[in-house]
Amino acid sequence: MTEHRHAAARPTAAGPWVFDTRDIGRRAGSSRSYHREVPASGMGLEGVIAVPDGGEVELDLLLESVVEGVLASGTARTVVVGECSRCLESLSSEVEVDLMELYAYPHSATDATTDEDEVSRLIDDLIDLEPVVRDAIVLALPQVPLCSPDCRGLCSECGGKLAELGPDHGHETMDPRWAALQKRFGADRDNSEEN
Ligand SMILES: [Zn+2]
Ligand SMILES: [Zn+2]
Repeated sequence: MTEHRHAAARPTAAGPWVFDTRDIGRRAGSSRSYHREVPASGMGLEGVIAVPDGGEVELDLLLESVVEGVLASGTARTVVVGECSRCLESLSSEVEVDLMELYAYPHSATDATTDEDEVSRLIDDLIDLEPVVRDAIVLALPQVPLCSPDCRGLCSECGGKLAELGPDHGHETMDPRWAALQKRFGADRDNSEEN
């Protein structure tokens, strides 16, 4: 038996992420589709971009018996919140990921020929979809979240949002000696050019 190997990952039958494949039967080809809205939080990088507390993942799933186990396919959708990494404005965006995962039967050829972390296993006929969905969502998140692709970020001098400060925004950061020279000569030249 494989009970010792899998003891740590044994799903509890009641969890919202858990699917009982006995509902499908083991005849290859039989299938069943599911729609679930599962409470979720913390998927992602908290404070950067992640599913917030009280969040939800919407699952559209097809579980299908195949020779080696149960194939889970479908989509997971959720809303993530975070902070623009340039202007620090809060942002939220929708994330949708495709899922495709084989859960091998214990003692199947797949079970015997693959490592434990290579292919998921059915445990007591149950599938715990949470790790697969979590991985897929985390992978789909941007490493550098932006409020918009062309966000101009913050002024490095005053910290204001450049988009709001306008194109003419700038600061006098001239060397005082150079500023004095410009006052004597530059200003005159500017005036003569204008005239
Ligand atoms: Zn931004
Ligand atoms: Zn500024």
